[in-house]
Amino acid sequence: MSSENRTAVPNSLNEHWMPFTSNKDFKENPRLITAAKGVYLTTHHGKTQIDASSGLFCNPLGHGRREITEAVTKQLETLDYAQPFQQGFGGSFELASRIAKHTPGDLNKMFYTICGSTAVETAIKIAVAYHRAKGHGERYRFVGRERGYHGMNIGCISVGGMVNNIKTFASVLMPGVQHIRHTHLPEHKFVSGQPETGDYLANDLETICANFGGENIAACIVEPIAGSTGTLVPPKGYLNKLREICDKHGILLIFDEVITGWGRTGSKFGADEFGVIPDIMTMAKATTNGVVPMGVVACNDFIYDAVMDASPKGAVELFHGYTYSGIPVAVAAALAVQDIFEKDDIFNRAKNLAPYFQKGLFSLQDLESVDNIRGYGMMGGIDMRLNTKPGKAGLECFKACYEAGVNFKATGDCLIIAPQFICEEKHIDEIIDKLRTGITNYQKNQKN
Ligand code: PLP
Repeated sequence: MSSENRTAVPNSLNEHWMPFTSNKDFKENPRLITAAKGVYLTTHHGKTQIDASSGLFCNPLGHGRREITEAVTKQLETLDYAQPFQQGFGGSFELASRIAKHTPGDLNKMFYTICGSTAVETAIKIAVAYHRAKGHGERYRFVGRERGYHGMNIGCISVGGMVNNIKTFASVLMPGVQHIRHTHLPEHKFVSGQPETGDYLANDLETICANFGGENIAACIVEPIAGSTGTLVPPKGYLNKLREICDKHGILLIFDEVITGWGRTGSKFGADEFGVIPDIMTMAKATTNGVVPMGVVACNDFIYDAVMDASPKGAVELFHGYTYSGIPVAVAAALAVQDIFEKDDIFNRAKNLAPYFQKGLFSLQDLESVDNIRGYGMMGGIDMRLNTKPGKAGLECFKACYEAGVNFKATGDCLIIAPQFICEEKHIDEIIDKLRTGITNYQKNQKN
């Protein structure tokens, strides 16, 4: 096989152990993507599909953006790599300043990582480092939330709350982590936007403080909207309550905005949308429009200052970093993305398109096999009715939709829908029409 057609159809599927994939099933009947442009993807059968999940929430600006390609190419030709320890390059500082203009409150200090998982690991470590710097090494406990997804490293799955991601690795989890309950209640079925009820669930954090001592807890981490589990929208007042309880006990509040960041909710960040400012915030995915891996941890000035002040001049203040922390090629992509955000007024575009998308999403409610729908901004989750065993309906429905020409991710039995912000109303219509066709075909296949 020549390098020109390498991605089209490989000679062997055996050697690649695929992530989050039923490898045996896939390899019997592979689904390969060979090209992407704008809102469309091309499969190895030459069929066109519409991208209904922006990759994995990665590409809100569409595929194949010329401005990003050009910026990355230029960067590679000028400075392809600069090691990031004890030296730097201008771009990463410029990017940090530009991100700081968008991040809420005093979240003005950016630590670069490689992806969302490493952003979460870094946030956890920064929380510990902050408390130690303040003389509170006893604060080592973390609080996560059921059904939360924070990536796949050990710290991430320890604070995460999606059972299948944890079970196999239960023996090696971080010690001292507790979980508050998730926020989805039976009465939230088919509720669009923020549910009216359920803010009391934030009191679980108060209960954990009572049981373990709030003074022993380093941080509480949540996604403003739980994305990977299928858009669990926070009840009204819930995030404010979490903030109040954290303040009362000196606990840091971490918002994992790997999905909700950069416009997905209709505001720049979930923090802006819900009017609650965390102490630490993670970003990844859309930061580079998904084309080069990058994660960012935004920290409040007081956290940075405490860690700086705890070390003498000349000492490394935080023994943490990655070979690929803020490397030129990722920074170039992220700077180009910042330009597009501004030029195309992208956050307003997402906000204006969101009601149309939500209306389309909830129009699928009449389908027999659809058990529930949740949505907010430019994200939504469609729960499929259980089909003999968990996960089967999600996978079968995903395949039927793939055949119908609409691409997204299914997590368990939930279809994860998150259109690109560059979509026009006709693209939203196409996504919804093709979802209807795919889900209907899935239903028919079940009856045959
Ligand atoms: N945090 C959240 C909220 C996510 O949704 C994800 C990935 O989907 C991650 C962290 C992990 O990101 P990555 O897969 O880039 O490591």
